[in-house]
Formats: sequence, structure tokens, C-alpha cells
Amino acid sequence: PPVLAIIGRPNVGKSTLVNRITRSREAVVEDVPGVTRDRVSYDAEWNGTDFTIVDTGGWEKDARGIHRRVADQAELAVDEADAVVFVVDGTVGATAVDEAVVRMLRRKKKPVFLVANKVDSEAQMIEVHALWNLGLGRPYPVSAVHGTGTGDVLDAAVEAMPETAQHGGLVPSGGPRRVALVGRPNVGKSSMLNKLAGSDRVVVDPVAGTTIDPVDEHIELGGETWRFVDTAGIRRRQHMASGSEYYAMLRTQRAVDKAEVAVALLSVDEPISEQDVRIIQMAVDSGRALVLAYNKWDLLDDERRYYLEREVKRDLGHVTWAPRVNVSARTGWHKDKLAPALKRSLDNWERRVPTGKLNAFLGEIVAAHPHPVRGGKQPRILFATQPSSRPPKFVLFTTGFLDAGYRRFIQRRLRETFDFSGTPIEVSMRVRE
Ligand code: GDP
Repeated sequence: PPVLAIIGRPNVGKSTLVNRITRSREAVVEDVPGVTRDRVSYDAEWNGTDFTIVDTGGWEKDARGIHRRVADQAELAVDEADAVVFVVDGTVGATAVDEAVVRMLRRKKKPVFLVANKVDSEAQMIEVHALWNLGLGRPYPVSAVHGTGTGDVLDAAVEAMPETAQHGGLVPSGGPRRVALVGRPNVGKSSMLNKLAGSDRVVVDPVAGTTIDPVDEHIELGGETWRFVDTAGIRRRQHMASGSEYYAMLRTQRAVDKAEVAVALLSVDEPISEQDVRIIQMAVDSGRALVLAYNKWDLLDDERRYYLEREVKRDLGHVTWAPRVNVSARTGWHKDKLAPALKRSLDNWERRVPTGKLNAFLGEIVAAHPHPVRGGKQPRILFATQPSSRPPKFVLFTTGFLDAGYRRFIQRRLRETFDFSGTPIEVSMRVRE
């Protein structure tokens, strides 16, 4: 979902505002400057639009007790955001720190909404009007404590956020979790679907009054209902002359975009092809959870098995983090292994590592394996945050550019330490001179 960052000086009431917006009790923290919190983002919804709120309050002091400049922290959040709510204290007006934040915001060219918080009475409106001078457009007077004024700013912010987030489009949420069953023609997608659905297949989404096929099916697996997306395409293909690979890939991308997790079906009866690899890469690049399923296992003999494992090492070495199940759509063998693999991948995909834990982990590996010295300099990692999940994204705050090799090392250790099997993870850097 699109990301809305809430930024501002300590004690202007960011947390109270976030609580107002998310209406969740668990998000509440007293508004004490410098309080370190673990969670930095929350799921929110306004007028039917789902979005993620990044609250920078938790970064006012990081796990090592380092106070960062407000503008630096805000910049980190703004870079990750689709729209920004900038909160100032309406009873105080704009301070020099606020003006530094405004200068940073100008460079970023993201939609910004200025909130004057703590405006509890008409008399305070004079101060609010003075905020036009910041050049950020109309100030929205809000009392986060009383819950007044938040609706107007949310209307505007939601309007400004793009429907689709950067990576492979909007990740759907709500209802049964969504699965895209993907793979090149003839790997057995249609057969697999029949085996999984059995006679209980429930077709959803028939479009009323049209001749368009129903697109998704609900299927029970492992005690949970799953929504298999774009199954009409899978079932129909049998009766069609095979389309070009381009359209097959287009359909695959569409299914992946609609889903939270992709099951990439491979088949033992042919070597891993370029198309197999591209399909898997599509799921990874779109930031979806991933399960690999090797179909037609009933056809496997010892010799093929030997070559198959070598192929997997050679061609799928970059996705060793994805769980793999060996199945047979023909006999139904191991079909019960699919649901646990889906659940595990999705749980990891949704997981957030608390900032404290993350920085404790970093402290340890950096102490044991410092970055190599380059040209007399040694870049240091100051701290890290995980601004979002689905899939997990990490940001490292550093004093210089980290080698690609070192970044991969950190990424690998993150995976191992916090078990991110089944999900792509992203690690980016913010360099501070
Ligand atoms: P799709 O194009 O990916 O939907 O593949 P289909 O489900 O149409 O299957 C392609 C062919 O593989 C058909 O002839 C199936 O009967 C066969 N097939 C599918 N799954 C299995 C399996 O587990 N074992 C064997 N032996 N054949 C299978």
C-alpha cells in the first residue's frame, strides 16, 4: 500500500495523531520527547483506501541512544513515503527546526500536508494562519487529542497518494490471503488447481451481467481459505492454442500483482528453462512472498533426480531462501505440504523486526566483521530501521558507501538471524557525511 509519513519535531503530537488515524490502542505511547518505540509503521485505512503510516517518533532516539537531527530523521521517512504529513505545534508556530524540515521537503518534491496540531480553540487560529508563510500551502488545524480536523487532512493526503505502490503494484489486503499459481505452460498448473480444489472449488468474482469469466477461486488448504487469483486464465489455457510467451508473461505479472504470495510451479520432466527463471524473478522483483513447487515428482527416476538437484543449484541459486515442496498433481502426493510453506513464507513476508533487536544484531555483526578499510576510510553503520514489511525493507544509516559485498553479507545475516525464508528482503543505505 502507499506510505504516508508523519514527521515533525519531538513533542508536537505525532504519536497522538497516529493513534487518531489508526484508532488502535496498541499504537499509543505517551507523548514524551525521545521515547524510543519499536514499531515505526502502522496499517491504516481512510474512506476505503488502505495505506501504511510511518511514524518517525520512534527514531528520535535510536537503539544506541543516538539523537539524530529532526531533519535527518524526517528525510529518512520522506524518502520512503508517497505522501507526507508535516506536524508543527499550532500553539508555538514554526520554529527554526521546522524551517530546516521545510527546506528538506522542498528538495523532495513529494506531496506535503501541513498540520498545525494542538489547536483546541478558535483563538489559536491566528497562529495557524501565520503558517501559510512556510510555503507548504494551507495549514490544517488539528486537535489530535480531541480528534478534530484530522478528517480534512486525511481526505487530502489519501487523494494525493498513488493507488499503486512502486514495487509491482498494490499489495492487496483483507479477506483470504491471495495466491498466484504461476509457471510456464504444461508444468501442471491446471492439474494442480484441480487437485487442490477437489470438488469444493468455489468460484468468486463473477462480474454481474457480463460474459467475463470468473477470475479467482477460493480453495481450502491446511485449515485456511486461500484466494487463488486469475484461475480462469489457467483453466482456459488448456482449450486455447498456446498464446505467445509475451502474453503468458503479461498474465503472470498480472496474477503476481494481485497476490501476496506466488507459488512458482516447475516440472521435473524438463530442464529448468529461461522462462521458469524469469517467472520466478518476476515474483521476486514484485516483492511477493515465494514458494517453489516441483511438480510431476511421480515421473522422477534416480538419474533425473541427480541432474535436477544440480540444475536447481545452478539456475535457482539466487532463491535458495524460498521453501521448496516436491509434489505430484497427478497423484496428490505432498499436496498437504503446500499450505505450511505458504503460511511460513507469508508470515516472514509480513514480519517486522523491532528497531531495538535490529540494532543489537547490527552491533554484534559489525563488531565481529567490520567493513574493510577503503582508501584509508572505513564506512560505519550508525543504525538501522525497518520502515516497512510486505516485503521487509531495511534502511542502513551509514557514514559512507558500503561495498556491494558487505551489503550482501549484511543481507544474508539478516535472513539467517531473523528467518526471512520465503520472502525477498530489501536493504538500502542512507549515507551521511
Ligand atoms: P498447465 O499448462 O501448467 O496448466 O499444465 P496442465 O495442468 O495442463 O498439465 C500439462 C500436462 O502435464 C498434462 O498432460 C497433465 O496431465 C500433466 N501433469 C500435470 N501434473 C502432473 C503430475 O504431477 N505428474 C504427471 N505425470 N503428469 C502431470
